[in-house]
Amino acid sequence: MVSVFRDPILAAIRGLESELSGGPRADLPPPVETLGSLLLEREARLRAIEREQPEHELLAAIPDAAGLISREGVIRAANTALENLAPGGRATGLTVLEITRNGELGEAARRALEGSAKRLEVQLGRRAFLTHLVPLVRGEVLVLLRDITEQRLVDSTRRDFVANASHELRTPVTAISGAAETLLSGAMNDPAQARHFLDMIARNADRLAQLTRDLLDLSRVESRQWVISLEPVYAAVAARSAAEACADGARRKRIDVRVELPEEIVVRADVRALEHVLVNLCDNAVKYTPDGGRVTVSAEQTEDTVTLSVVDTGPGIERHHLPRIFERFYRVDAGRSRESGGTGLGLAIVKHLVQAQGGDVGVESGAAGTRFWVRLPRAAPRQAPAAPGATVTHS
Ligand code: ADP
Repeated sequence: MVSVFRDPILAAIRGLESELSGGPRADLPPPVETLGSLLLEREARLRAIEREQPEHELLAAIPDAAGLISREGVIRAANTALENLAPGGRATGLTVLEITRNGELGEAARRALEGSAKRLEVQLGRRAFLTHLVPLVRGEVLVLLRDITEQRLVDSTRRDFVANASHELRTPVTAISGAAETLLSGAMNDPAQARHFLDMIARNADRLAQLTRDLLDLSRVESRQWVISLEPVYAAVAARSAAEACADGARRKRIDVRVELPEEIVVRADVRALEHVLVNLCDNAVKYTPDGGRVTVSAEQTEDTVTLSVVDTGPGIERHHLPRIFERFYRVDAGRSRESGGTGLGLAIVKHLVQAQGGDVGVESGAAGTRFWVRLPRAAPRQAPAAPGATVTHS
């Protein structure tokens, strides 16, 4: 056939159309032949992907690390989480043993290929996994690895908390029942002894009350039952009421509590939560500062934030305690804390309340004393400051 088309591709198309409708075999130029075979290859590849797609789609939809072990014992298809577990980020083509370097799991995979399903917990490096190996009808095995590291951590934190709380509750309960028994077995007839044991009962009942209050506060904050409503709050007003709340203790120890912050500073906070935080920090500062010391509440602001500080002239906290100081029941000196009515929960409550208000909390300490700080978002004032006076001193 003599081509009348100048464009060789158009000529080839017309030639093929004519061949397919019964004409003579089209004579195609080499580039068109190459293009044809490339198109065929692309088509074949797409078909292959489509064939595998359901498996890959399924594996990708599983939130755990998941893959299929072929009858030959190597991973034939894997989702990204499983690929990431393998050395070099490529699980496909490797055995379960090569991926996890865990003999128990390697053996379980082998047994699963023989038909027995297996569920086991393994530790891979620092992470814990719950693993399922499920034999499938074609003789292959589905392997699933669920990362349970966080869950394990939560479980052990909860166990520690229950153990600590029980221990804290048991101490005053034991003291109360011991004192009551002693009274009943005769001490109540001796006025001096009776007074001593009744004092003991009253002191430990107070401790129990404080402990249950703190436990309830902590659980309300953690379970978000303590509803936080953020609004503009004058920092000086909150700081003054915290200082007032600690005034009795401060007076007893002749500690000078100063509130030194500009009246116009306004934070975005929940009034009750902020006061609770400042009372806890002031209360600690007074508790741990020796007689005649000083506690200062101050604030500074940037364009977006306000940092409130409670600074004392106490003995300071050794450096190695600082990273754990906000943990529940963590105390530098348990005896000293209990003696002064501490529960070991105050700073944990502070941390949760500050975080619930969208802020940060921290501590710095040295030989000259301790500074606890709370950083909260700055807010625009809603109205003029309620009360004048920049400095309030309790001594
Ligand atoms: P507690 O009820 O024991 O005071 P907190 O959670 O409030 O519990 O504080 C945890 C521990 O941090 C305290 O037991 C104490 O050892 C230490 N601590 C807190 N505030 C201060 C402070 N201002 N100066 C020195 N130590 C402090």
